[in-house]
Formats: sequence, structure tokens, C-alpha cells
Amino acid sequence: MEKIIIVGGGVNGLCAAYYLQKRNNFDITVIDRGDISDNCSFGNMGFLSPSHFVPLASPGVISEGLKYMLSSTSPFYIKPRLNLLFLQWALKFYQNSNQKTVEKNAPHLSELLNLSRRLMNEIRDDIGDVFDMEEIGCMMMCHSQKAFEDELKVADSAKKLKLAVEIFNREELQKKEPNVELDIYGAVLFKDDAHIHPGKFMLAMKNYLEQNGVRFQLNTNVSGFTKNHKKISEVVTDKGTFDADEIILSGGTWLSELAKKAGVTLLIEGGKGYSYTYNHVEKNIRYPAILVDGRCAVTPWEKTLRIGGTMEFSGNNNKVLTKRMEGIYNSVKRFYPGLKIDFPPKDKIWTGLRPVSPDGLPYIGKAGNFENLLISGGNAMLGISEGAAAGQIISDLVEKRSTPIDISAFKVERFN
Ligand SMILES: Cc1cc2nc3c(=O)[nH]c(=O)nc-3n(C[C@H](O)[C@H](O)[C@H](O)COP(=O)(O)OP(=O)(O)OC[C@H]3O[C@@H](n4cnc5c(N)ncnc54)[C@H](O)[C@@H]3O)c2cc1C
Repeated sequence: MEKIIIVGGGVNGLCAAYYLQKRNNFDITVIDRGDISDNCSFGNMGFLSPSHFVPLASPGVISEGLKYMLSSTSPFYIKPRLNLLFLQWALKFYQNSNQKTVEKNAPHLSELLNLSRRLMNEIRDDIGDVFDMEEIGCMMMCHSQKAFEDELKVADSAKKLKLAVEIFNREELQKKEPNVELDIYGAVLFKDDAHIHPGKFMLAMKNYLEQNGVRFQLNTNVSGFTKNHKKISEVVTDKGTFDADEIILSGGTWLSELAKKAGVTLLIEGGKGYSYTYNHVEKNIRYPAILVDGRCAVTPWEKTLRIGGTMEFSGNNNKVLTKRMEGIYNSVKRFYPGLKIDFPPKDKIWTGLRPVSPDGLPYIGKAGNFENLLISGGNAMLGISEGAAAGQIISDLVEKRSTPIDISAFKVERFN
């Protein structure tokens, strides 16, 4: 039986395992240095976002970033560092943040997001409706008229990509959210979007995979690879070596470190985000929303509410800067003055590192000159939205099938 090793049990690793086990008789092991109970795929906002077809690296982001960087509560921060890979990443990010590249990349991103959105429904039908998936769209809430007018332009582009949108003024919006007083100019509802509880999804996937023969080698750090001509024959860990016929690297923000051990150069920076989850909000909001000019997001699951956001490039660490959470909390209170929530205790604030590529597109495909090395990651703020499609594509590549969409834009070594 062909042996497959997947390094990294985030959404990318588990979705790849899901499609590989579903369609084949492979011997699959997922290796993770943690216990898969809290990586970036757990505490995020859980949006499935076909509406996010504009890549993160876009013309506005640099000027917005510079504008915000001087404030300690700012939603966007880049800490300058004298590190060669960081400097290369920053240069490529800057070079990709232009309209021409965005127009080239957006259709590819859109195809991937739409495919993944469809596949998430299939996964739910297969493993069970156990991760609080709701298909009511996502509100892009705007506090100012200017933000609303900009959002209407995004809505126009979305319509060209055949996405369904609905526009609301303040009064109409308040009727949609009867339980909580709003202070919002207007909003665009992207109706194809959905949301899930990402932690429940991860646990459900892991349980499903275990029950279907996938092995989990947890608390095990991958430190290298044994190469044999054009193949990698073994994955080296602190708990011994594992032989493999195919290797899939899905190490999230640490993907570039992992790939380097195989001699492959990948540019990824960790974009730190924060979230906090209120377990009981008596009068909760109904719609998940992105607070466009508040630069954060809110996700309700019945009486539970998660607030989150920020994009902080300050190296791969989990240090909590309370000021950033203050920025999120204050924005939420400004948009929803009727929401009764307290400022979160510092020790309960969750952080995660988004794996951000320099153009905001993921890396999906073969890597290096190896015949048996594949990579899946670098999804930035869209890993939950893209994971299912990335997993299916990885399975297609292992099985040497043609992929359902053109994946040339996601080529692993596109920056080399
Ligand atoms: C605040 C916030 C909100 C977000 N909201 C959304 C959202 O609403 N929708 C959306 O689509 N996306 C969202 N994201 C982004 C999404 O969470 C990420 O893109 C996604 O989780 C990345 O998944 P991954 O599988 O690549 O990495 P991870 O989930 O980080 O998993 C990588 C795994 O690799 C393991 N690993 C790494 N190196 C090694 C090694 N050497 N040996 C063994 N194991 C290793 C790690 O332990 C980890 O478990 C959000 C992110 C943040 C921070």
C-alpha cells in the first residue's frame, strides 16, 4: 500500500488527508508537532468567503498599512527586520500590490474559493452537520459613507463574477439585526458566503479521519528529510524516521522552514491575528460580518460570539499585544453599540499566525525537483475558505488526475 506522510494537521493537512483516504486505499499518517487542538485553523472567524476574490496584496494595502502603522491599536502592522527571507517577502509583497497583478490573480482566487465553497457542503453531507455551518452570507458593514461607496464598487465586481449581493441602508439593516442596536451607514450582503465553527470542523475532521484509518503521529517535530535522487524516502522527526512514497507539507506559517529542510525556498510570513469568544451573549447578532472601516470581524453561532482581526507581521511568535485587541473591541462596540460585551481578559485572548504569501495566493502543487513532494499552504486569511479545494487538488495531484481548476497561479516556486 502506498505510504503518504502529511506534515501539519491544520485545515490544509486534514483536508488533503480527507480526499486521499476517501478516494484511495492509501496508508496515511499526519504528523504534527502539536496535538491538533489549537493551531491557526481553530480560533479564526470561520468564514467561507467566495466574496474575498481580491487578493490581500492589493493597491490599497500598502498605503493603508503605512497610515495605520503608527498606532498601537492599529489593525495592520509590519515590524521591519533585517532578515533576508523577510526582506525578500516584503519586496515581493510590495511588487504584487498593484492593480495589474490583482486583475490577473482575482479570477484564479475566485475559482478556488467557489470550488471550496461547494466542496464544504459535500463534506458536511458526508461527515455530518456538526460544525455549525450556516449559509446566510456575510455582511460587509460600513460605518462611513466613504467605506460604503467603496464597498459598492466591490459589489459590482462581485456581480461580474456571478456572486449574489444585496445592499442595505441603515434602517433595513437594523431590521435584519433586531436584537442589537447598530450604528452603521450601510452594508453589502455577500449571499454566497457561509460560516462554520472552525474548531468544531477541525475536531470533526480529525475524528472522521481516525475512524477511517488515518494515523495521527502527534507531538512530533519534523526536523528533516532523507533524499534519494529525485525522491524523498524518509521524514525525519524527534520520534524517529517515517518512510514515505508521497510527502505533503502543510505546516502553515512554518511551511517555509519545513520546505527549506527539503531544499525548497518558499516565501511566507506569519500574519498574526487575534480573537476572543464570548460563550453566552443573551442578545446576540444574527449575521457574521466584516466591519469594513473597523477592520475586524464578528461571527455569531447562536448565543456564542467571536470577535477578531488584525494583521501583524512581527515574526513567528504568539505574544499578545492587548492594545491590538482593544482596537478590535472598540470597533465592535462602535458598530454595535447595543452589544453587551466586556473587554476580554488578557489570558483568554487567542492568537494565530496566518501563513501569508507575497501575492495573497496559496501555494498548491509539486515542489523542488522531487517526484514525490507536494505543498499546500500560504492561504493567508483564507485557509478555511480554500482548504477543501486545496485538499482535493492535492489528492488529484497524488493520483495523477487532472485538477478541476487551473492551478498555474498557485505554483509553489513562482517567486524564485
Ligand atoms: C484572527 C484570524 C481570523 C481568520 N479568519 C479566517 C476566516 O474567517 N476564514 C478563512 O478562510 N480563514 C481565516 N483565517 C486564516 C486561516 O485560519 C488560516 O489560513 C489557516 O488556518 C491556515 O491553515 P494551515 O493548515 O495552513 O496551517 P495551521 O492551521 O497553522 O496548521 C499548521 C500545522 O503544522 C504544524 N507544523 C508546523 N511545522 C511543523 C513541524 N516542523 N513538524 C510538525 N508539525 C509542524 C503546526 O503544529 C500546525 O498544527 C483567519 C486567521 C486568523 C489568525
